[in-house]
Amino acid sequence: MSLDPIFSPRSVAVIGASQRRDSLGYALVHNLLMNEFAGTIYPVNPKSAVIHSLRCYPSVGSIPDPVDLAVILVPRAVVAGVVEECLEKGVRGLVVITAGFREVGPEGAALERRIVARVREAGVRLIGPNCMGVINADPDVRLNATFAPAPAHPGSVGFVSQSGALGVAILNVAASLGIGFTQFASMGNKADVSGNDLLEYWEHDERTRVIAMYLESFGNPRKFTQIAKRIGRSKPILVVKSGRTAAGERAASSHTGALAGADVTVSAFLEQCGVIRANTIEEMFAIAQALDKCPLPAGPRIAIVTNAGGPAIMATDACVSLGLEIAALSDQTADALRRVLPENASLNNPVDMIAAAGAPEYEATVSAVLRDPGVDMVLAIHVMPLTSTPMEILTAITQAARTAPDKPVAVVMMATEEAYAHIRNRPDLVPIYEFPESAALALSKLAGYAAWRARDGAQEVERFDGDDARVESLLDTVSDGYLPPDAAFGVLEAYGIPTAPWSLVQTKEEAIEAASRIGYPVVLKAVGAELVHKSDVGGVEVDLRTDGELAAAITEMSARIERAGLRADQFLVQKLIKGGHELIFGVSSDPRMGPILMFGLGGKYVEVFHDVRFGIPPISRSEARGVVRGLRGHRLLEGVRGEDPVDEERLVDILLRIAQLVDRHPRIVEMDINPWVAFPRAEQSRAVDVRIRVAALPRGPLA
Ligand code: ADP
Ligand code: MG
Repeated sequence: MSLDPIFSPRSVAVIGASQRRDSLGYALVHNLLMNEFAGTIYPVNPKSAVIHSLRCYPSVGSIPDPVDLAVILVPRAVVAGVVEECLEKGVRGLVVITAGFREVGPEGAALERRIVARVREAGVRLIGPNCMGVINADPDVRLNATFAPAPAHPGSVGFVSQSGALGVAILNVAASLGIGFTQFASMGNKADVSGNDLLEYWEHDERTRVIAMYLESFGNPRKFTQIAKRIGRSKPILVVKSGRTAAGERAASSHTGALAGADVTVSAFLEQCGVIRANTIEEMFAIAQALDKCPLPAGPRIAIVTNAGGPAIMATDACVSLGLEIAALSDQTADALRRVLPENASLNNPVDMIAAAGAPEYEATVSAVLRDPGVDMVLAIHVMPLTSTPMEILTAITQAARTAPDKPVAVVMMATEEAYAHIRNRPDLVPIYEFPESAALALSKLAGYAAWRARDGAQEVERFDGDDARVESLLDTVSDGYLPPDAAFGVLEAYGIPTAPWSLVQTKEEAIEAASRIGYPVVLKAVGAELVHKSDVGGVEVDLRTDGELAAAITEMSARIERAGLRADQFLVQKLIKGGHELIFGVSSDPRMGPILMFGLGGKYVEVFHDVRFGIPPISRSEARGVVRGLRGHRLLEGVRGEDPVDEERLVDILLRIAQLVDRHPRIVEMDINPWVAFPRAEQSRAVDVRIRVAALPRGPLA
């Protein structure tokens, strides 16, 4: 594997090593030595003979033996020359710590590009520049090639950080929580090796069971999608993504544009890829612990076992709000609990064993609820009374957890700092949390990830018949801006997306003639360049039943719109679509991700509930179904109070058609179908309003 010389070198040259104790070049050699690197270390510095008890060489070329990895921390001006020497020497991996490249401006960027071109030509990989280094905690390698005091215990988490300083801070916290690593890399400018490369490296690394990433940006979102979806099927990827994105770049004149803020977009994108997102570093640790130590649950049903009421209520609230279900315990379980618990214990979920519970009660109770087929996972809460011995209780719970190796068990221990000191750094115990909320979060993420994995893995993107030539000619109507309504409806129809029968008219006579063709009742809508949100200015009149009503509506609507200082150039006469659920389909464009699909509760509900979900093309049917079912208000579509359910596959179908439409016609930068009126019978469902914005330049990036 091409990253082996970087992570598992047999020898390391530190170019720019130094005798000065306060220098990075000293710290780096120090870290290599103190972590007992299993290979040979060669300090390189023409001005010193010895550094840190090691013989120092004047140049990498003068080292008598082969060098696998060179860590470079010389001044920027000489980096390119040193890289040349390394290539000549046959060095196979480079870590460039020196800063002052792309991050400082065009001149630095040009230098960086030149170096990368040389390195790639030679088939050598480079991490950085402007990075903090790499660690391999594998006991057979023990490489700490960073200049920061960053202890990394061996474990099963591969961790890559776009920020070096934060990465090291994270390693420090991880050590105190007992989380161990396989490898760590600080990426710096990602000039050569990218986050995607590391994902692929860890994909094939057996010891790495969890991949954690701190990211500030996605270099190549499309490639990340493909890699993450593939790897996520076998190992979890956990991402902390900071929200610094170009949110302001997007015009927010459409609902989709306004709702598809940069951050929800990233979340949708990660979710579709099966990537677990943590919002904070704290969350990342909470989730990483559970991923590292627990199996994946078969479903969302949780049992809570506690020795105190309050925290169990908090845990219940947290679980429910995160989408977990409080399991209903079986009669057999209740019988089993009755035998081991005191009379005043509560045998329903949450099972309150009351304060007197000790290790035997914990072990028996956790085992009993784990045996219940209606329980997918267990959260055990222990509030430490003065007399209890936390280690015994934790051991008892861990014992119980072993009886159900396919169900996750987590513990909330509300105890003194002193008690914690004893239980940290114990990889053999179930994951332990200080607060119910973080435990609930971690378990809910396990359940979400498990559900993603269980979903139909077929990633095939379907193809629909669409009249692309007709769409192109309709898009030509406008070079930059909104399509007129007839063209916009035409685009939908060309793609097999049904619309309510409509007709554009100029006069009352034409309107009445159109209504007789369409059939009453009809809807009248004002059409004009500035009439974007028609109903806001009185430009929509529904349920007109006669010629007289229609004619009067035209007179009144014209007057209203004039009073608002606007003008109706034409009118749309449309068939009234009675009943049904108003939904929204939309498209917006993200400068990095390309087109974003949106689906949600539509009509006036969009503004009020903001109940929408996002998808990123290319999107498979099962992913699209995930978007549709992910709505908070999804139950409305399943039919409440005796209503028939809406045809869900039809909604999925429309979403997929829109995905293909915008994929093939990148001039469409924004689209709102609002509302789409959905019925139990698919053939009845249709679009009654659509807005499409085209841009002269196709939206970027990606092909
Ligand atoms: P705008 O979004 O510009 O205000 P719409 O065409 O979406 O205009 O109409 C506003 C609302 O009027 C819709 O959300 C819907 O409730 C109702 N409506 C519009 N057209 C129809 C129709 N053909 N049948 C039934 N209701 C309609
Ligand atoms: Mg509308």
